[in-house]
Amino acid sequence: MTKSEKLKPEAFDKDGWQVDQKDDWQGNNVAFTCRACGRVFIVSGRIHSGRRTCKCGQSEGFVKGGRKSGGSAWLVMKEAAN
Ligand SMILES: [Zn+2]
Repeated sequence: MTKSEKLKPEAFDKDGWQVDQKDDWQGNNVAFTCRACGRVFIVSGRIHSGRRTCKCGQSEGFVKGGRKSGGSAWLVMKEAAN
């Protein structure tokens, strides 16, 4: 099972800070906080082609396009098997 969490451009204030402080999205670069291990990892549209898995392997961040140009960014988490 996986769970996807989409970043909302409207969750950022006029200075570009995300109100809930978990993630950051500037242009086509996103810093996600892994919900499983707490590590912050960067996903760049340019360097990582918009897709990168956290070191722990439990979450994968995606970014497509820029925050101010109709792009999207989301984090997919693998749910631990119970
Ligand atoms: Zn992680």
